Amino acid sequence: MYVKSLTLKGFKSFASATTMRLEPGITCIVGPNGSGKSNVVDALAWVMGEQGAKSLRGGKMEDVIFAGTAGRAPLGRAEVALTIDNTDGALPIDYTEVTIARTMFRNGGSEYAINGTSCRLLDVQELLSDSGIGREMHVIVGQGQLDAVLRATPEERRGFIEEAAGVLKHRKRKEKALRKLESMEANLTRVNDLTGEIR
Ligand code: ATP
Repeated sequence: MYVKSLTLKGFKSFASATTMRLEPGITCIVGPNGSGKSNVVDALAWVMGEQGAKSLRGGKMEDVIFAGTAGRAPLGRAEVALTIDNTDGALPIDYTEVTIARTMFRNGGSEYAINGTSCRLLDVQELLSDSGIGREMHVIVGQGQLDAVLRATPEERRGFIEEAAGVLKHRKRKEKALRKLESMEANLTRVNDLTGEIR
């Protein structure tokens, strides 16, 4: 599994559609300060479902949409598409190539699609977390994050290791199952009450 391409359109400084084709192995992005290198990494996190504006180095989520320059008007939407080579079947989906797309409009929330079919954020998260990637899996190490790891308390460091080891997805599933169980128990109590009333 490797990232085959990343397309940005209206995302941060990338007003026009820009596609980066990648090969297996190491890719380096070089450029002068402020030319948009970190914006490419932000796009990667964003398309995988990042929900925090701060993690994307903005004040609010709409800040990812191209805000305009002296010579170009602002845009109304940001779009990013990430294509992953899945010939090794690392992603639990029956396709050798998987494209995850996210679109955000200035006046609304985000839309997601997997291979052209619209889906929920949860579907994207589930697809990625099973393979150990995704926005919370520490696959993206931002500037200053290494310092944060070195300065972390033992408890925080344990959190990093647990997340990297894939414990997080099981914890999330457990929390979801417990919430379901709670609502089932509430339903059961209600059924028992109703049965008592009928008798
Ligand atoms: P450095 O080497 O200094 O870390 P960089 O190449 O990583 O720089 P980025 O931080 O990716 O650069 O890009 C910063 C640029 O992106 C700035 O010029 C900023 O104005 C522009 N930018 C960020 N958000 C938007 C937006 N919503 N619309 C237009 N331009 C934006």
